Amino acid sequence: MYLSKSQYMRGLQCPKALWLFKNRKELAAEPDQRRLNLFATGHRVGDLAKQLFPGGVEIEYRQSDYQGMIDETSRYTKGENVVYEGSFSTNGVFVRADILVKNGPVWDIYEVKATASTKAVHKPDVAIQWYVIGKHLALGKAYLVHLDTSYVRHGELDIQSLFRVDDITDDVQAEQASIESNLENLKAMLAGGEPDIPIGTHCKNPYECDFLAHCWQDVPYPSILDLCRLNGDRKFKLYHNGVVTYEDTRNHIDLNAVQALQVETALSREPYIDTGALTDYLRDVRHPISCLDFETFQEAIPRFDGQGPYKNIPFQYSLHILHQNGDLEHREFLADETGDPRLGLTRRLLHDIPDDGTIFAFHQSFEIGVINGLARHFDRYAAQLTALIGRFKDLEIPFNRLMYYHPDFHGSFSIKSVLPALFPRDPELDYKNLDIQSGDVAMDIFPHLNEIDDPDKKAALRESLLAYCRLDTLAMVKIWQRLNKTINSANE
Ligand code: SF4
Repeated sequence: MYLSKSQYMRGLQCPKALWLFKNRKELAAEPDQRRLNLFATGHRVGDLAKQLFPGGVEIEYRQSDYQGMIDETSRYTKGENVVYEGSFSTNGVFVRADILVKNGPVWDIYEVKATASTKAVHKPDVAIQWYVIGKHLALGKAYLVHLDTSYVRHGELDIQSLFRVDDITDDVQAEQASIESNLENLKAMLAGGEPDIPIGTHCKNPYECDFLAHCWQDVPYPSILDLCRLNGDRKFKLYHNGVVTYEDTRNHIDLNAVQALQVETALSREPYIDTGALTDYLRDVRHPISCLDFETFQEAIPRFDGQGPYKNIPFQYSLHILHQNGDLEHREFLADETGDPRLGLTRRLLHDIPDDGTIFAFHQSFEIGVINGLARHFDRYAAQLTALIGRFKDLEIPFNRLMYYHPDFHGSFSIKSVLPALFPRDPELDYKNLDIQSGDVAMDIFPHLNEIDDPDKKAALRESLLAYCRLDTLAMVKIWQRLNKTINSANE
């Protein structure tokens, strides 16, 4: 029986996850579009990194012919200097190495990741390759190849500058001492019944497990696991010691101010309002009030000049403008998906946004970061863009600084938590009525729009993007009005 590298890694994160994968795969969550996109990005980055070592031979993946792939690798490593996806097996474990490079009498392993840095989880990933391949070839060094986020594209893609190569040989060699015992433990575990492993921080770290729905089905909501600003290990320790519900926490742990508020409001069902602080916050708001929200995407491999790996590229905004007389205007921009969206967006934004008044954003550091990025990219618009920054006011502040706390926030101050808590039965303000319900989904859709041939499908997706962003800024208008009304009622 072969244990693949990814199965070994799954077993290191949680042996039960490996057991379930091997025996109860039907319980695993289907990968969502976001995860599928991550896989596709990983493949594209892996293919591109091969150009760092051109002229190699590739072992084609054949799902039902592992032995054929191993035999082919064995032949090529006798005559070639660069092998892509070389396949090996030792002690029941099967691995494929992204890039193997002959370096005198030894071979170096290059593992490619579509990440911005080398992470701790990459080291056991390469270590198991080293263990397996080292039984067949003399090895020299182990390297982790990842994207270099300091690279900015100008003209043709510069492959050498796009990637960084980190030498992780010492870490990989240090891991060797534990590999055989890890394998023995995993094999013994797989020979038995479903292991009894409690839920913990390992369920979401380093990767979110596919079996959450199965293992977490008895966790009540809300529970201590939803308590904000409490260390994950401590949460699970308390949970497994019977401190499960908010009620349980009252006599068992010291709560900080936010946690105490979260628990007390949840139990009383009464919101908490600091009228004085809220009045101060609202005092300097000036009309016309602009509520602004950007959507951005990130790409591992930059397409445009002035774009770097995983740098935010804004492609859309929604802008609601509330005038002193109560009139509400809406303006929006969604870029054409075929080119660099930044110039068109910048020009339209500077045209659409009023020359004065407060600019509300929810979690303003994101919107300000986008504006600063545009200002750096377009010298000619830099002064106009940076002049906007002093007018921003963060609409998240009344919530994350505890001027207004609603029991249904459950410790989260995102607009997706605040809006339904304040307007629970308003279908116009319900993200669940939209096709796109989160910025993560929007950022995955836009960069792939240009791959869609069906014009109706494309038009529908564009309309969904507009509806999603529009609700973000309408939500801000409604939240601001609700805060104002709250203060006016309190002062009557
Ligand atoms: S949900 Fe947690 S406990 Fe269950 S298999 Fe996954 S990692 Fe293990």
